[in-house]
Amino acid sequence: MITMQGKGVSCGIAMGTVRILTRDEINVKRICVEDTAAEIKRYRIAKEKALAQLNELYKQALKDLGEEDALIFGMHCMMLEDPDYNNSVEGIIRRQSVNAEYAVSLTTENLRRLFDVMEDDYIRERAADVQDVSRRVLSCLTYRAVESRPAAEVKDTVICADDLSPSETVQLDRNNVIAFCTARGSATSHTAILARNIGIPAVTCLGDGLLRINDGDEIIVDGGSGMVYVNPDEVTRAAMSAKRDEDIRRKHRLHALRDRDNITQDGHRINIYANISGVEDIPAALENGAGGIGLLRSEFLYLDRKEAPSEEEQLEIYRAALEKMNGKRVIIRTLDIGADKQAKCFRHEQEENPALGIRGIRFCFAHPEIFRIQLRALLRASVYGKLAIMFPMISSLEDIRMSKAVMAQVKRELEQQGIPYCKDVEIGVMIETPGSVLISDLLAREVDFFSIGSNDLTQYTLAADRQNPYLEQYFNPRHIALLRMIRIAADNAHRNGAWIGICGELAADTSLTETFLAMGIDELSVSSPSILPLREKVISLDLSRKERILAEIGTGV
Ligand code: PEP
Ligand code: MG
Repeated sequence: MITMQGKGVSCGIAMGTVRILTRDEINVKRICVEDTAAEIKRYRIAKEKALAQLNELYKQALKDLGEEDALIFGMHCMMLEDPDYNNSVEGIIRRQSVNAEYAVSLTTENLRRLFDVMEDDYIRERAADVQDVSRRVLSCLTYRAVESRPAAEVKDTVICADDLSPSETVQLDRNNVIAFCTARGSATSHTAILARNIGIPAVTCLGDGLLRINDGDEIIVDGGSGMVYVNPDEVTRAAMSAKRDEDIRRKHRLHALRDRDNITQDGHRINIYANISGVEDIPAALENGAGGIGLLRSEFLYLDRKEAPSEEEQLEIYRAALEKMNGKRVIIRTLDIGADKQAKCFRHEQEENPALGIRGIRFCFAHPEIFRIQLRALLRASVYGKLAIMFPMISSLEDIRMSKAVMAQVKRELEQQGIPYCKDVEIGVMIETPGSVLISDLLAREVDFFSIGSNDLTQYTLAADRQNPYLEQYFNPRHIALLRMIRIAADNAHRNGAWIGICGELAADTSLTETFLAMGIDELSVSSPSILPLREKVISLDLSRKERILAEIGTGV
């Protein structure tokens, strides 16, 4: 038996047969050409062919997986049409009098080097997308098949590869492929995101050892722990098989809770909502019994595009979200851009400490027109459901007062234009900084609700960059300091007439559900797959230990 530890990026246990994915590498040579104009023409024809293929893939993904996943191919089209990419390829052909294949390879290599030094994991991983796009162009230039469409003629196939491109992942034969493993990759790559959305177990970062196993080997993949067993012994096979059966039973058990109330044994109620990044996530939220949307991260509408979405485009999206939720509360957070979330459609200034820089509400104040357009779209959408608007990165009373003043101005504008909007849209702030916790009594008098952004509150309270993998031991959202922060904010909210939720990752931590209930948290907002496990936990609890829990946390004074 060979045991390997990688990074589990999509949960579940799969037991099947190895299928190694090998690719026909296209060996590119540098060849001198005389007629560079003809070579550029040849490149342009290949590019058009590649664009047509990507459009086909887009349609296929749209049909099979939905809009969010299909967007990957939209992004690939954008990369291929990017003037920088094309100018580079054509410039190399012209200046060096070389063949198109070489110019494409050199451009890809240059871009890869550029991406490699980027600090942001997400941006660095886009190098894989550029490579994917270039491979497609090369295949069109050389008339070779681009995708090794992973042959999976056998049931229960586990695809094992050096890495998988998003297009290869989308094309996995879902009748037969039950999991995949890669030697490289990461949790934030599009491939990992796709695996989670398709719902098959996946493990990445297994290293070169993975490539030394053989077609036909028996394999067990544990997408939760990141463990992979090749040709397992009897004991492992039996243990994993029991774990898989328990997984399946648990899913069925949880499904039965879909329509249950979130009430503890002794009658305490809490709302469980879903965090989403767009309308396309709503079916999963409803399928898992979400009581509402606790966080719609509106910045995802702005990422990966050349121009910010217009008022009309945003209106349609917000309207669709509200209508799909059919009267359940939808909290839409205004643009939280900056720091780790940079949008191509805006020019972000270089900052020494971007996490402490122009992000969230600060970015909106610095770009009043973008803020105004978003608020107009939100207020116009408010007549289609139960909308709540939430402002991110509020760190002072001035921040919230200024946000409300801009909103009041937008309301006046709409009234003058005779455009209807809902007059009692709830207003809330994200509590993400220690400063906002310490003035939460004052903030609560300005708003209807708080939502604890525990991801940022942890990084700012414990001075631990949330993006830095080497700080995992310091980035501890269960630190007593965090629990005290949440308790203070909850007490201040309730004393001053506001309600309070948590929408950071911590909300899904069931070892703290009792603590949050003891503090009187009114709502927990989590990713859709976490809703039912959280509901199961709430239903199992009673709050007889409440006073003891609160005493253990203390207040620090
Ligand atoms: C948070 O900070 O906890 C939060 C929910 O916001 P984001 O993760 O989008 O910064
Ligand atoms: Mg945040």
